[in-house]
Amino acid sequence: MNSWAKVYIPPIDSSIEFPQLHLYNSASQTITAMPRKNIYRMYVCGITPYDATHLGHAATYITFDLINRYLLATGARVDFVQNITDIDDPLFERAKRDNVDWKALATSQIDLFRGDMVDLHIIPPKDYIGVVEAIPMIIDAIVAIQKSSPTYNVESDLYFEIHSDGQFGKRSHLTEPEMIEIFSQRGGDPARVGKRDPLDALLWLHQRDGEPGWDSPFGKGRPGWHIECSAIALRYLDDGSDTQFSIDIQGGGSDLIFPHHEMSAAQSSAISGKEFARAYVHAGMIGLDGEKMSKSKGNLRFVSQMVNEGTDPMAIRLALISSHYSSDRMWTDNLLQDANALLEKLKVALSREEVAPTRPVINSLVQAISNNLDTPTVLRALSQWCDATLAGSIGGEAGELARAIDSLLGIAI
Ligand code: ZN
Repeated sequence: MNSWAKVYIPPIDSSIEFPQLHLYNSASQTITAMPRKNIYRMYVCGITPYDATHLGHAATYITFDLINRYLLATGARVDFVQNITDIDDPLFERAKRDNVDWKALATSQIDLFRGDMVDLHIIPPKDYIGVVEAIPMIIDAIVAIQKSSPTYNVESDLYFEIHSDGQFGKRSHLTEPEMIEIFSQRGGDPARVGKRDPLDALLWLHQRDGEPGWDSPFGKGRPGWHIECSAIALRYLDDGSDTQFSIDIQGGGSDLIFPHHEMSAAQSSAISGKEFARAYVHAGMIGLDGEKMSKSKGNLRFVSQMVNEGTDPMAIRLALISSHYSSDRMWTDNLLQDANALLEKLKVALSREEVAPTRPVINSLVQAISNNLDTPTVLRALSQWCDATLAGSIGGEAGELARAIDSLLGIAI
């Protein structure tokens, strides 16, 4: 599948020092330093193409874009891959509800998503892969699991014995009853009769009436959700050179910690024989005016709608990084107003002929991002620099700071 348009990343002065990037790893439950590497492999779970792109999606993809930008600035290459779950129950349900063809719905939503990513200055993935095009590699992945681990059928649907992965549950830190409850809330089928364990993961679903199906050694049908990401990530990111981890960073929203990331990691380990990701990193959820933002509440705010109404996408980006990425946070109109005000202040200050010293503020920006993406500190430092400039402080180079803001925060001023 085509990715979206490349984003211009201005060069950063090579004399700036970049500390190791520290990120909160939800598997180890600690902030850990990413080792210095020439190539990082990052897999970020993509959307199911309906309700694209709401502010929760935007916050997640901006988070991993900050990671991408920081690692690139250190001089490394970042191999970034993202999927699109263009075959899934929620997509079929939405298409049925709206009486549209699921393929047409997916195509229009993916187009919308691509446009939003360009507006938000998200660096595109090197491989942007949909399930439909990944069916052969998913089938290969399931065959590989069958060779290494126990699988079984329930009425022609194929399951993976999830506890055959010795690490299962250790990445998400939930009790068995918690896992079962969340599994059932997030598309799982713990109560299905015939399953050996309630948490066993669906690998292949036999074709249902009115649903698409593909031929496979397990019968005509379609893949389960978690195997899709195992197959795509391993195929596009694991060349076998790292004996410890298949990828460096597995990313997504915190609602993917369980079951999705736990199960796709368990399946990946069954295939590769090693731990899936060096770090599991998750972005918090975005609510609206005190309530959880969700499709069931009907209170989703969409990027394209806001941009069409005249909102500057850079203000959306700035507003979404004004709180820490890992926290669940509320979207309010005040947040956007504050972001617009800071954007305006930066424009005014950066257009001055004489500006306050810029090297110290760039150093604090780099330092704060390296510290688990501490963007609230970044924005405070930028605001203070504007105040100093507007108060008449001199000695800096505006272009240097504008390039650093663009390159590291993805905010073009
Ligand atoms: Zn995924």
